[in-house]
Amino acid sequence: MDQNKTQPSKRVILLLALVLLALLLVLLLLVFLFPESIPETLETYFLSVPTTPPTPAPTRIDLYTYYNFRETQQIPVYDHREDRLIIMDFESYIIGVVGVEMPVAYETEALRAQAVAARTYAFRKILRGGCATYEGAACCTNSKCCQAFISDSRMQERWGDAAGMNYNRIADAVMSTAGEVLVYNGAIADAMFHACSGGHTEDSENVYANALPYLRGVESLYEDPMRTQTVEVSFEEAVEKIRASYPEAHVTDENIRSSIELSEFFDTGRVKTVRLGDIKIVGKKLRNVFDLQSAMFTMETTDTGLIFHVKGYGHGVGLSQNGANGYAKHGYTYEQILKHYYTGVEIAKDLNGMATVIENAAPEVTPSHG
Ligand SMILES: [Zn+2]
Repeated sequence: MDQNKTQPSKRVILLLALVLLALLLVLLLLVFLFPESIPETLETYFLSVPTTPPTPAPTRIDLYTYYNFRETQQIPVYDHREDRLIIMDFESYIIGVVGVEMPVAYETEALRAQAVAARTYAFRKILRGGCATYEGAACCTNSKCCQAFISDSRMQERWGDAAGMNYNRIADAVMSTAGEVLVYNGAIADAMFHACSGGHTEDSENVYANALPYLRGVESLYEDPMRTQTVEVSFEEAVEKIRASYPEAHVTDENIRSSIELSEFFDTGRVKTVRLGDIKIVGKKLRNVFDLQSAMFTMETTDTGLIFHVKGYGHGVGLSQNGANGYAKHGYTYEQILKHYYTGVEIAKDLNGMATVIENAAPEVTPSHG
Protein backbone atom coordinates (compact mmCIF):
# COMPACT_ATOMS: atom_id res chain seq x y z
CA MET A 1 0.00 0.00 0.00
CA ASP A 2 2.94 2.22 0.77
CA GLN A 3 4.04 1.82 -2.78
CA ASN A 4 0.73 3.14 -4.11
CA LYS A 5 1.17 6.34 -2.12
CA THR A 6 4.60 7.07 -3.45
CA GLN A 7 3.81 6.05 -7.00
CA PRO A 8 2.34 9.41 -8.18
CA SER A 9 5.33 11.46 -6.94
CA LYS A 10 7.72 8.98 -8.60
CA ARG A 11 5.77 9.39 -11.80
CA VAL A 12 6.00 13.15 -11.56
CA ILE A 13 9.75 12.96 -11.07
CA LEU A 14 10.10 10.56 -13.97
CA LEU A 15 7.96 12.80 -16.14
CA LEU A 16 9.99 15.85 -15.19
CA ALA A 17 13.22 14.02 -15.94
CA LEU A 18 11.88 12.98 -19.35
CA VAL A 19 10.81 16.52 -20.14
CA LEU A 20 14.23 17.87 -19.15
CA LEU A 21 15.96 15.21 -21.23
CA ALA A 22 13.77 16.04 -24.20
CA LEU A 23 14.56 19.75 -23.83
CA LEU A 24 18.26 19.00 -23.66
CA LEU A 25 18.05 16.85 -26.77
CA VAL A 26 16.19 19.56 -28.66
CA LEU A 27 18.83 22.10 -27.58
CA LEU A 28 21.67 19.84 -28.68
CA LEU A 29 19.90 19.16 -31.96
CA LEU A 30 19.56 22.91 -32.53
CA VAL A 31 23.21 23.44 -31.71
CA PHE A 32 24.29 20.89 -34.28
CA LEU A 33 21.77 21.88 -36.93
CA PHE A 34 22.40 25.62 -36.72
CA PRO A 35 25.90 26.11 -35.32
CA GLU A 36 26.26 29.45 -37.11
CA SER A 37 23.28 30.88 -35.24
CA ILE A 38 24.96 30.40 -31.89
CA PRO A 39 26.82 33.37 -30.50
CA GLU A 40 30.54 32.82 -30.67
CA THR A 41 31.04 32.70 -26.92
CA LEU A 42 28.39 30.04 -26.46
CA GLU A 43 29.79 28.05 -29.32
CA THR A 44 33.22 28.12 -27.70
CA TYR A 45 31.87 26.49 -24.61
CA PHE A 46 29.43 24.03 -26.14
CA LEU A 47 31.06 22.87 -29.30
CA SER A 48 34.74 22.87 -28.60
CA VAL A 49 37.21 22.76 -25.82
CA PRO A 50 38.91 26.13 -25.82
CA THR A 51 42.65 25.71 -26.32
CA THR A 52 43.26 28.99 -24.57
CA PRO A 53 41.39 30.59 -21.69
CA PRO A 54 38.64 32.99 -22.73
CA THR A 55 40.47 36.26 -23.25
CA PRO A 56 40.89 38.92 -22.21
CA ALA A 57 40.20 37.69 -18.70
CA PRO A 58 37.81 40.02 -16.90
CA THR A 59 40.32 41.05 -14.29
CA ARG A 60 43.96 40.75 -15.14
CA ILE A 61 46.54 41.25 -12.47
CA ASP A 62 48.67 44.34 -12.36
CA LEU A 63 51.98 42.79 -13.39
CA TYR A 64 53.97 45.93 -12.69
CA THR A 65 52.99 45.81 -9.02
CA TYR A 66 52.73 42.03 -8.68
CA TYR A 67 56.29 41.44 -9.84
CA ASN A 68 57.51 44.63 -8.18
CA PHE A 69 59.07 45.83 -11.42
CA ARG A 70 60.17 49.09 -9.80
CA GLU A 71 62.64 47.20 -7.61
CA THR A 72 63.37 44.03 -9.54
CA GLN A 73 63.31 45.16 -13.21
CA GLN A 74 62.09 41.66 -14.00
CA ILE A 75 59.53 40.44 -16.46
CA PRO A 76 57.44 37.24 -16.34
CA VAL A 77 57.70 35.52 -19.73
CA TYR A 78 55.79 32.43 -20.75
CA ASP A 79 58.01 30.08 -22.74
CA HIS A 80 55.52 28.40 -25.06
CA ARG A 81 58.03 25.78 -26.21
CA GLU A 82 58.86 24.59 -22.72
CA ASP A 83 55.41 25.36 -21.38
CA ARG A 84 56.56 27.29 -18.34
CA LEU A 85 56.68 30.77 -16.91
CA ILE A 86 60.15 32.25 -16.54
CA ILE A 87 60.96 35.37 -14.53
CA MET A 88 63.67 37.19 -16.46
CA ASP A 89 65.81 40.25 -16.18
CA PHE A 90 64.01 42.79 -18.38
CA GLU A 91 66.97 43.78 -20.59
CA SER A 92 68.09 40.14 -21.00
CA TYR A 93 64.63 39.38 -22.27
CA ILE A 94 64.91 42.24 -24.81
CA ILE A 95 68.22 40.78 -26.04
CA GLY A 96 66.45 37.48 -26.70
CA VAL A 97 63.66 39.28 -28.58
CA VAL A 98 65.93 41.37 -30.81
CA GLY A 99 68.04 38.25 -31.43
CA VAL A 100 65.21 36.54 -33.24
CA GLU A 101 62.92 39.35 -34.37
CA MET A 102 65.60 41.05 -36.49
CA PRO A 103 68.45 39.60 -38.58
CA VAL A 104 71.65 40.02 -36.58
CA ALA A 105 73.49 41.27 -39.67
CA TYR A 106 71.33 44.40 -39.78
CA GLU A 107 72.95 47.78 -39.09
CA THR A 108 73.63 48.75 -35.48
CA GLU A 109 71.19 51.69 -35.59
CA ALA A 110 68.46 49.38 -36.93
CA LEU A 111 69.12 46.90 -34.11
CA ARG A 112 68.91 49.77 -31.62
CA ALA A 113 65.60 50.97 -33.09
CA GLN A 114 64.33 47.39 -32.85
CA ALA A 115 65.50 47.15 -29.23
CA VAL A 116 63.51 50.27 -28.29
CA ALA A 117 60.42 49.03 -30.17
CA ALA A 118 60.63 45.58 -28.55
CA ARG A 119 61.16 47.11 -25.11
CA THR A 120 58.21 49.46 -25.61
CA TYR A 121 56.05 46.54 -26.68
CA ALA A 122 57.04 44.48 -23.63
CA PHE A 123 56.76 47.27 -21.10
CA ARG A 124 53.36 48.19 -22.44
CA LYS A 125 52.32 44.58 -21.85
CA ILE A 126 53.53 44.80 -18.26
CA LEU A 127 51.37 47.87 -17.74
CA ARG A 128 48.36 46.55 -19.60
CA GLY A 129 47.89 43.20 -17.92
CA GLY A 130 50.15 41.10 -20.11
CA CYS A 131 49.86 38.44 -22.77
CA ALA A 132 46.34 37.76 -23.99
CA THR A 133 46.87 34.00 -24.00
CA TYR A 134 48.78 33.15 -20.84
CA GLU A 135 47.54 34.97 -17.79
CA GLY A 136 50.27 35.97 -15.39
CA ALA A 137 52.84 36.42 -18.17
CA ALA A 138 53.68 39.86 -19.49
CA CYS A 139 54.64 38.35 -22.83
CA CYS A 140 54.79 34.88 -24.29
CA THR A 141 57.44 33.66 -26.71
CA ASN A 142 54.99 32.83 -29.48
CA SER A 143 55.44 35.37 -32.27
CA LYS A 144 51.84 34.83 -33.37
CA CYS A 145 50.71 36.18 -30.00
CA CYS A 146 53.41 38.46 -28.51
CA GLN A 147 57.05 38.65 -29.61
CA ALA A 148 59.41 35.86 -30.56
CA PHE A 149 62.29 35.13 -28.18
CA ILE A 150 65.51 33.15 -28.44
CA SER A 151 67.32 31.83 -25.38
CA ASP A 152 71.12 31.81 -25.02
CA SER A 153 71.23 28.05 -25.56
CA ARG A 154 69.19 28.25 -28.75
CA MET A 155 71.43 31.08 -29.99
CA GLN A 156 74.30 28.64 -29.48
CA GLU A 157 72.50 25.94 -31.50
CA ARG A 158 71.53 28.34 -34.23
CA TRP A 159 74.77 30.25 -34.68
CA GLY A 160 77.43 27.83 -33.43
CA ASP A 161 80.83 29.52 -33.38
CA ALA A 162 79.32 32.89 -34.24
CA ALA A 163 76.99 32.81 -31.23
CA GLY A 164 79.27 34.82 -28.93
CA MET A 165 79.93 37.50 -31.52
CA ASN A 166 76.25 37.77 -32.48
CA TYR A 167 75.16 37.88 -28.87
CA ASN A 168 77.54 40.75 -28.14
CA ARG A 169 76.33 42.65 -31.16
CA ILE A 170 72.70 42.38 -30.06
CA ALA A 171 73.50 42.99 -26.38
CA ASP A 172 75.36 46.19 -27.34
CA ALA A 173 72.32 47.47 -29.23
CA VAL A 174 70.06 46.66 -26.29
CA MET A 175 72.29 47.94 -23.49
CA SER A 176 73.19 51.16 -25.31
CA THR A 177 69.46 51.97 -25.33
CA ALA A 178 68.69 50.38 -21.94
CA GLY A 179 65.44 51.55 -20.39
CA GLU A 180 64.38 53.58 -23.45
CA VAL A 181 60.79 53.32 -24.63
CA LEU A 182 58.53 55.26 -26.98
CA VAL A 183 55.89 57.55 -25.56
CA TYR A 184 53.19 59.64 -27.16
CA ASN A 185 51.74 62.44 -25.05
CA GLY A 186 53.50 60.98 -22.06
CA ALA A 187 51.84 57.56 -22.38
CA ILE A 188 53.60 54.45 -23.59
CA ALA A 189 53.06 53.81 -27.30
CA ASP A 190 51.97 50.62 -29.04
CA ALA A 191 55.20 50.05 -30.94
CA MET A 192 54.05 47.71 -33.68
CA PHE A 193 56.57 46.55 -36.22
CA HIS A 194 56.74 44.35 -39.29
CA ALA A 195 59.37 42.91 -41.61
CA CYS A 196 59.01 45.05 -44.76
CA SER A 197 56.55 47.82 -45.67
CA GLY A 198 56.72 47.45 -49.43
CA GLY A 199 57.58 51.15 -49.70
CA HIS A 200 54.87 52.71 -47.54
CA THR A 201 53.60 51.86 -44.07
CA GLU A 202 49.88 51.84 -43.30
CA ASP A 203 47.50 53.85 -41.08
CA SER A 204 46.63 51.67 -38.08
CA GLU A 205 42.86 51.84 -38.70
CA ASN A 206 43.31 50.34 -42.16
CA VAL A 207 44.65 47.16 -40.60
CA TYR A 208 43.30 47.14 -37.05
CA ALA A 209 40.37 48.71 -35.25
CA ASN A 210 41.72 52.01 -33.99
CA ALA A 211 43.26 55.10 -35.54
CA LEU A 212 46.30 56.02 -33.47
CA PRO A 213 47.97 59.39 -34.04
CA TYR A 214 51.46 57.90 -33.99
CA LEU A 215 50.68 54.91 -36.22
CA ARG A 216 50.26 56.80 -39.49
CA GLY A 217 51.30 55.48 -42.86
CA VAL A 218 54.63 56.98 -43.91
CA GLU A 219 56.88 56.61 -46.89
CA SER A 220 59.60 54.01 -46.40
CA LEU A 221 62.28 55.05 -48.85
CA TYR A 222 65.05 52.53 -48.41
CA GLU A 223 63.38 49.13 -48.56
CA ASP A 224 66.39 47.70 -50.30
CA PRO A 225 66.32 44.89 -51.19
CA MET A 226 62.52 44.99 -51.41
CA ARG A 227 60.88 41.80 -50.21
CA THR A 228 58.54 40.46 -52.85
CA GLN A 229 56.63 37.24 -53.42
CA THR A 230 54.90 35.62 -56.36
CA VAL A 231 52.16 33.16 -55.56
CA GLU A 232 50.67 31.02 -58.31
CA VAL A 233 47.45 29.16 -57.66
CA SER A 234 45.52 26.96 -60.07
CA PHE A 235 41.79 27.66 -60.37
CA GLU A 236 41.02 24.33 -58.66
CA GLU A 237 43.26 25.21 -55.73
CA ALA A 238 41.78 28.69 -55.51
CA VAL A 239 38.23 27.35 -55.36
CA GLU A 240 39.23 24.90 -52.66
CA LYS A 241 40.90 27.56 -50.54
CA ILE A 242 38.08 30.06 -50.90
CA ARG A 243 35.45 27.44 -50.10
CA ALA A 244 37.31 26.42 -46.95
CA SER A 245 37.14 29.97 -45.56
CA TYR A 246 34.14 31.48 -47.33
CA PRO A 247 31.57 28.87 -48.43
CA GLU A 248 28.96 31.66 -48.48
CA ALA A 249 30.82 33.29 -51.39
CA HIS A 250 29.54 30.45 -53.61
CA VAL A 251 32.70 30.30 -55.68
CA THR A 252 32.80 27.27 -57.98
CA ASP A 253 35.02 25.78 -60.69
CA GLU A 254 32.61 27.29 -63.21
CA ASN A 255 32.57 30.86 -61.93
CA ILE A 256 36.06 31.21 -60.42
CA ARG A 257 37.41 33.13 -63.43
CA SER A 258 35.14 36.05 -62.69
CA SER A 259 34.83 35.59 -58.93
CA ILE A 260 37.70 37.61 -57.55
CA GLU A 261 37.92 41.32 -58.08
CA LEU A 262 40.28 43.60 -56.18
CA SER A 263 37.72 46.39 -55.83
CA GLU A 264 39.42 49.07 -53.76
CA PHE A 265 42.97 49.95 -52.79
CA PHE A 266 44.34 52.17 -50.05
CA ASP A 267 46.60 55.00 -51.21
CA THR A 268 49.58 52.92 -50.09
CA GLY A 269 48.79 50.19 -52.59
CA ARG A 270 47.41 47.70 -50.06
CA VAL A 271 44.17 46.03 -51.07
CA LYS A 272 41.23 47.51 -49.19
CA THR A 273 38.26 45.46 -50.37
CA VAL A 274 37.74 42.44 -52.55
CA ARG A 275 34.63 41.10 -54.22
CA LEU A 276 34.72 37.36 -53.68
CA GLY A 277 31.84 35.68 -55.48
CA ASP A 278 28.66 36.74 -53.66
CA ILE A 279 30.43 38.50 -50.81
CA LYS A 280 32.77 41.39 -50.12
CA ILE A 281 35.76 40.98 -47.81
CA VAL A 282 38.65 43.20 -46.73
CA GLY A 283 41.96 42.81 -48.51
CA LYS A 284 43.85 41.36 -45.57
CA LYS A 285 41.38 38.45 -45.45
CA LEU A 286 42.19 37.50 -49.02
CA ARG A 287 45.82 37.76 -47.96
CA ASN A 288 45.10 35.06 -45.36
CA VAL A 289 43.23 32.81 -47.82
CA PHE A 290 46.26 32.61 -50.13
CA ASP A 291 49.01 32.98 -47.50
CA LEU A 292 50.32 36.16 -49.07
CA GLN A 293 53.17 37.90 -47.24
CA SER A 294 51.33 41.21 -47.17
CA ALA A 295 48.13 42.93 -48.27
CA MET A 296 50.07 44.95 -50.85
CA PHE A 297 49.42 42.84 -53.92
CA THR A 298 48.04 42.76 -57.43
CA MET A 299 46.43 39.82 -59.16
CA GLU A 300 46.78 38.42 -62.63
CA THR A 301 44.47 35.87 -64.23
CA THR A 302 45.99 33.34 -66.62
CA ASP A 303 44.42 30.50 -68.62
CA THR A 304 44.92 28.07 -65.76
CA GLY A 305 44.85 30.09 -62.57
CA LEU A 306 45.77 33.18 -60.61
CA ILE A 307 49.09 34.87 -59.95
CA PHE A 308 49.53 37.21 -57.01
CA HIS A 309 52.39 39.70 -57.06
CA VAL A 310 53.12 40.72 -53.48
CA LYS A 311 55.28 43.52 -52.12
CA GLY A 312 56.42 43.81 -48.51
CA TYR A 313 56.11 41.41 -45.60
CA GLY A 314 53.77 41.78 -42.64
CA HIS A 315 50.87 44.01 -41.60
CA GLY A 316 52.62 47.24 -42.57
CA VAL A 317 51.86 49.20 -39.37
CA GLY A 318 54.60 51.01 -37.43
CA LEU A 319 58.28 50.33 -37.95
CA SER A 320 59.46 48.46 -41.02
CA GLN A 321 62.49 46.42 -40.01
CA ASN A 322 63.82 46.19 -43.54
CA GLY A 323 63.23 49.92 -43.98
CA ALA A 324 64.92 50.68 -40.65
CA ASN A 325 67.99 48.87 -41.92
CA GLY A 326 67.86 50.94 -45.11
CA TYR A 327 67.60 54.21 -43.19
CA ALA A 328 70.50 53.12 -40.95
CA LYS A 329 72.61 52.51 -44.06
CA HIS A 330 71.76 56.04 -45.14
CA GLY A 331 73.11 57.47 -41.89
CA TYR A 332 69.98 57.76 -39.79
CA THR A 333 70.33 57.24 -36.03
CA TYR A 334 67.97 54.88 -34.23
CA GLU A 335 66.17 57.89 -32.78
CA GLN A 336 65.61 59.38 -36.25
CA ILE A 337 64.45 56.00 -37.54
CA LEU A 338 61.94 55.60 -34.70
CA LYS A 339 60.62 59.14 -35.12
CA HIS A 340 60.21 58.51 -38.82
CA TYR A 341 58.07 55.40 -38.40
CA TYR A 342 56.18 56.48 -35.26
CA THR A 343 54.72 59.93 -35.88
CA GLY A 344 55.15 62.39 -33.03
CA VAL A 345 56.67 60.02 -30.48
CA GLU A 346 59.39 60.81 -27.96
CA ILE A 347 61.93 58.50 -26.42
CA ALA A 348 61.58 58.32 -22.65
CA LYS A 349 63.65 56.52 -20.05
CA ASP A 350 61.58 56.82 -16.93
CA LEU A 351 59.82 53.46 -16.93
CA ASN A 352 58.61 53.80 -13.37
CA GLY A 353 57.22 57.25 -13.99
CA MET A 354 55.41 55.89 -17.00
CA ALA A 355 53.58 53.35 -14.90
CA THR A 356 51.61 56.16 -13.32
CA VAL A 357 50.47 57.78 -16.57
CA ILE A 358 46.87 57.21 -17.58
CA GLU A 359 46.93 55.81 -21.07
CA ASN A 360 45.29 56.91 -24.27
CA ALA A 361 43.06 54.49 -26.10
CA ALA A 362 45.03 51.87 -27.96
CA PRO A 363 44.22 49.29 -30.61
CA GLU A 364 43.43 45.84 -29.35
CA VAL A 365 46.02 44.08 -31.38
CA THR A 366 48.35 41.34 -30.28
CA PRO A 367 50.68 40.45 -33.12
CA SER A 368 53.90 42.41 -33.13
CA HIS A 369 54.53 41.52 -36.73
CA GLY A 370 53.07 39.24 -39.32
ZN1 LIG B 1 51.32 36.16 -25.79
